[in-house]
Amino acid sequence: MSSINEPSFRESVDLMFNRAVSLMDLPPGLEEKIRVCNATYTVRFGVRLRGEIRTFTGYRSVHSEHMEPVKGGIRYSMGVNQDEVEALAALMTYKCALVEAPFGGSKGGLCIDPREYEEHELELITRRFAYELAKRDLINPSQNVPAPDMGTGEREMAWIADQYQRMNTTDINGKACVTGKPLNAGGIAGRVEATGRGVQYALREFFRYEEDTAKAGLSGTLDGKRVVVQGLGNVGYHAAKFLAEDDGSVITGVIERDGAIVDDTGINADELRNWIMAHGGVKGYPHGTYVEDGAKVLEQACDILIPAALEGVINLSNADRVKAPLIIEAANGPVTAGADEILRDKGCVIIPDMYANAGGVTVSYFEWVKNLSHIRFGRMQRRQEEARHQLVVDQLETLSDSLGEKWSLDPMFKEQYLRGAGELELVRSGLDDTMRTAYQSMRKVWHERDDVQDLRTAAYLVSIEKVASSYRAKGL
Ligand code: GLU
Repeated sequence: MSSINEPSFRESVDLMFNRAVSLMDLPPGLEEKIRVCNATYTVRFGVRLRGEIRTFTGYRSVHSEHMEPVKGGIRYSMGVNQDEVEALAALMTYKCALVEAPFGGSKGGLCIDPREYEEHELELITRRFAYELAKRDLINPSQNVPAPDMGTGEREMAWIADQYQRMNTTDINGKACVTGKPLNAGGIAGRVEATGRGVQYALREFFRYEEDTAKAGLSGTLDGKRVVVQGLGNVGYHAAKFLAEDDGSVITGVIERDGAIVDDTGINADELRNWIMAHGGVKGYPHGTYVEDGAKVLEQACDILIPAALEGVINLSNADRVKAPLIIEAANGPVTAGADEILRDKGCVIIPDMYANAGGVTVSYFEWVKNLSHIRFGRMQRRQEEARHQLVVDQLETLSDSLGEKWSLDPMFKEQYLRGAGELELVRSGLDDTMRTAYQSMRKVWHERDDVQDLRTAAYLVSIEKVASSYRAKGL
């Protein structure tokens, strides 16, 4: 990404890891054991398309098996390579440890531009890739559970699940071989929005602590905060939409492939997304101002910058011009190790990727549990909960009658109080709790240790400690 010679993505992740590990007291050799990727499988396979055989290259990397299954998305992009997949697999290990999702880290990728293919062609390619991985247990409910990532979504996950189940017809837990599936194919409510929702919950938790917001030179709540988002894909779109609709933040800039839109009065994420779907880019959007050199908008003054696209977009070539006092890494690895140092020196607070975008894998965890338990969350309790609440409401109303006061409960309160939680409410509650708890574990280290100046180092410390204790318990 960077024009200047910078370490690769994997080296960048290793540098950040090493910085954290130098502050820890791990037994000799354990540091190396945790850092390295256990295995990376490369597959080249042919698919007959448009009258010829086309060869594709894919990867599945397993970073750490301290817990199994290992977990992580499958990315479809021309930029996929071994280095990237390994960096992303390592981040998955730390991410899962930080949010206490009981998985090791993995990641996969296929070198492909999905926009070049028809749906039925993508299905053939995906099924063949899934076959190659499943036959080596690199897709398996108890060993390796992929999920969506850049360039993939519910549709691809449904194909993968079906392919695995065709190959393992008697596996009663077959659906748990992949997460991020559509609801009608064993998915869970709230998975599509989960990563964006997690970004929102992470920011809300950050703004609950005056001390923390003050470190970024900010104050108050998310209301009225100016937000620039890079990438209006699944993660960026949901984060922007939720922050504007629920928290009163103002989306002042959106950066996409073909340029950016800036508008101080606020950009409507839904309208802009519809425009992009219809026109292939942001150019020509009738509101705000179009900026051809989109990357420049990363340097625009704002309160919160949300890189939600590629890795390495904030690097040595632009870090010193980035003005945002708060960056939340919705993408994996958007800030290089070198840029991280420059930004830290400037006093910019970075909410790190392994925490910020962990909402996706958190809800994947819920989906996997749902698949293994073969029952939708809330199915047993919902009506019972409603009946118990009804008892309280009835009792209160009888009481008011007997006192002759005739007061009645506010209908809005009654409606909300009486409604038992369905799957979506439970998923959101679990996600909120996860994001809050993980933030608290990071900020504790950030505030209590004099040698820890930033949230990223704190996040690494918390997660490496968890991975290390799991290896220690295993006797390694
Ligand atoms: N691809 C997502 C990530 O990078 C989700 C992974 C998952 O749900 O397993 O975190």
